Amino acid sequence: MKYADEFRDKEIAVGLAKAIRAEANKARPYRFMEFCGGHTHAISRYGLEDVLPTNVRMIHGPGCPVCVLPAGRIDMAIGLAMRPEVILCVYGDLMRVPGSQGASLLKAKARGADVRMVYSTIDAIRIAEENSAREVVFFAIGFETTTPPTAVMIRMAEKKRLSNFSVFCNHVLTPPAMKNILESSDIGDKGQFEIDGFVGPAHVSTIIGTEPYEFFAKEFSKPVVISGFEPLDMLQSILMLVRQINEHRYEVENQYRRAVTRDGNLRAREEISDVFELRDRFEWRGLGQVPYSGLRLKRSYAIYDAELRFEMQELCVADNRACECGAILRGVKKPVDCKLFGTLCTPEMPMGSCMVSSEGACAAYWAYSRFRDHRQRRAS
Ligand code: SF4
Repeated sequence: MKYADEFRDKEIAVGLAKAIRAEANKARPYRFMEFCGGHTHAISRYGLEDVLPTNVRMIHGPGCPVCVLPAGRIDMAIGLAMRPEVILCVYGDLMRVPGSQGASLLKAKARGADVRMVYSTIDAIRIAEENSAREVVFFAIGFETTTPPTAVMIRMAEKKRLSNFSVFCNHVLTPPAMKNILESSDIGDKGQFEIDGFVGPAHVSTIIGTEPYEFFAKEFSKPVVISGFEPLDMLQSILMLVRQINEHRYEVENQYRRAVTRDGNLRAREEISDVFELRDRFEWRGLGQVPYSGLRLKRSYAIYDAELRFEMQELCVADNRACECGAILRGVKKPVDCKLFGTLCTPEMPMGSCMVSSEGACAAYWAYSRFRDHRQRRAS
């Protein structure tokens, strides 16, 4: 398959793994966070950790929008969906994300809420057109990658003069979360964990470009390599990070040049800035309140803002205390460190968001049986 097979070539993968083993200095650790859940899945799916030397360690980051959505926002959405006049349109993986006390949108639907799974923003517009007597709310979620389609949808609703349509906005931004992780109390100079560099997200960077990461290289002396999702992309990115560390370079390098530029997608960025503005803060599961990390609709689009339209109150609720999603999303624990993993928590019966989402670290460990590798390593 074009653009897939050539990035999965076994001989090249063996050569890259050999180069990493040869160039990684055995006297020091290399701890790289892959921010994006797509990369976490690629690592598990292709067994990339198996070919890395033991001193090159991958740390899974918070780059899964479903995983980082806090329980309070799910509770807010459930409250909205339970209103008789509302049709709540959501992407499928949100349906089973736990809110407080085991609540979910799927359970709300079973109790009579009109929650409809959609595949695109266009579906939500169509549902609004077909149900003019109801209030149709789109549950918008995602990083910079999925924000432009939401912006386009809102402008489409305006053009069509849809008066029964609004958006519950949960779009979040990547760079503030990376900064929060580097400044968190369990990472860095004073914490127990160190991060030596980042494998930067691919899809997000097609929109925002590589420029926003230059801050991390300059201010935190952390190299960043923007990486594609195929196994050769990832191995090459890890090798590029190892080389930067060895040469005491702290730069932003772009491995994913076939899709990412320094400036990103200017048209998409314009769409975002036309419709959205920064919130002062936004709660992330695992990271807590992160300053300037979330988006809301600008005042000129306030009539499409579901939080204003329905006078929704912000809810902050505690996670299930036994679930380690918070620590996993900060990179300080692995899924196998959670006592519930594979026992009380499985994809069929998820207790936390990291097991629900197709990009979650717990789901990746389960789907590709990576928990067995970790247990074997610990036993040996
Ligand atoms: S295994 Fe389940 S309960 Fe444990 S951290 Fe992962 S999602 Fe949370």
